[in-house]
Amino acid sequence: MNAHRPRTVVVGAGIAGLSTALRLNQAGWEVLVIERSPSRRSGGYAVTFAGAGYDAAGRMGILPELTTRHIIPDRMDYVRPDGRTRFSVPGPTVRAMVGDRALNVLRGDIEDVLYQAVTDQASGQGSSPVQIRFGTTVVGVEQDPDGVDVTLDDGTIYRADLLVGADGLHSATRRLVFGPEDDLRLDLNHMAGVFFLDTLPDGVEPGVTASLTDTGRTLAVVSLGADRAVAFFGYRTERPMDELADGPQVALPRAYGDMGWVAPDVLAQLAGAESVYFDTISQMVLDRWSRGRVVLLGDAAWCVTLFAGYGSSLAVAGADALGAALERHPDDLPAALHEWEAEIRPEAERKQKLGRQIKGLYAPADPFRLWLRDLPLRLASYRPVSALLQRRLQLTS
Ligand SMILES: Cc1cc2nc3c(=O)[nH]c(=O)nc-3n(C[C@H](O)[C@H](O)[C@H](O)COP(=O)(O)OP(=O)(O)OC[C@H]3O[C@@H](n4cnc5c(N)ncnc54)[C@H](O)[C@@H]3O)c2cc1C
Repeated sequence: MNAHRPRTVVVGAGIAGLSTALRLNQAGWEVLVIERSPSRRSGGYAVTFAGAGYDAAGRMGILPELTTRHIIPDRMDYVRPDGRTRFSVPGPTVRAMVGDRALNVLRGDIEDVLYQAVTDQASGQGSSPVQIRFGTTVVGVEQDPDGVDVTLDDGTIYRADLLVGADGLHSATRRLVFGPEDDLRLDLNHMAGVFFLDTLPDGVEPGVTASLTDTGRTLAVVSLGADRAVAFFGYRTERPMDELADGPQVALPRAYGDMGWVAPDVLAQLAGAESVYFDTISQMVLDRWSRGRVVLLGDAAWCVTLFAGYGSSLAVAGADALGAALERHPDDLPAALHEWEAEIRPEAERKQKLGRQIKGLYAPADPFRLWLRDLPLRLASYRPVSALLQRRLQLTS
């Protein structure tokens, strides 16, 4: 790999793909990113960005910009089906609960920051180029001892030293190299749907995150100031792949049609929504994340799920660790990939386990479990506990 500048193809321009492009480019690699969507995707839900991902973002130089995108609701309201508030957690308490080495950021904003960093870095003096091709996917992968030939859907064959599959839960790279998705996917029997709202429904105040959980389903509306709001749906199902096949326009009204509160207003905005995220909540279970010169990273490899609340963080941490391992072993790709996996796998497996444990409490069907789930938040809403948490924040910030 040393005789020439090493080259990689990264499939997918999500958080995993863009952070891999950024980090490998920082390590001196020439990078081609291919993204199936015709242009940059925007939007998405708010995610907690913390732990190893937070530290990695610091090393990669994107933390200051990410910090400017940090959002904290003025208040979190937990409501009843008739819209009355069960209890509220004030913004400063939410801040204290998030902690001081963690951010609450829109998924699309993390992508924005990464995209900007990749573009800035690639235009810097002496940098190797990062190319991004939209509307492109991978249709073939052939490996030999000296490289990997990646066939794109326009017929181009790109010769690289490493192929990174960062193409998410339904990864084409994984299917081509590791086998059919159905053999590797563990469904957690829930669906998630997210889209931006044009107007904030009556009953949700600007700046507030409000949510209702009943009979195995949650609807949350996250207001991000006067002109931005996101609707989030998460519900249980015994047939996730059938729900996926039906699509959000059929499945979400079916699951939430009788919910009450702001659900009718939110569902009325679904038909005109510009883009809707809708997918099963599933984990990927693979005993190895690399085969020869092909490695999977992010949701394509592990998908810890939103129950673990750590997928974005782990994607960035995984990309940083991959770059570091390749720097340590510039002439020994198998050693680099082995070391990288040994570093990341324990954390990914811990978070997957957490995700499986939390799934039963996420949108509980029975009232006792709901009460149990809400107990810590209810406690946080009481003034003495709230004051204690806020003091803790002042002490640590
Ligand atoms: C509702 C929800 C809430 C979440 N909350 C949190 C949280 O609080 N904290 C947290 O850390 N994480 C959270 N996550 C997880 C987090 O969003 C993901 O784990 C993270 O974004 C990493 O995703 P990724 O880049 O691996 O995959 P993706 O975001 O799926 O990106 C994959 C990219 O590859 C592209 N692609 C797909 N197929 C192809 C193909 N064949 N060819 C080319 N391109 C392709 C896609 O268009 C996409 O751009 C949440 C997820 C969901 C769904």
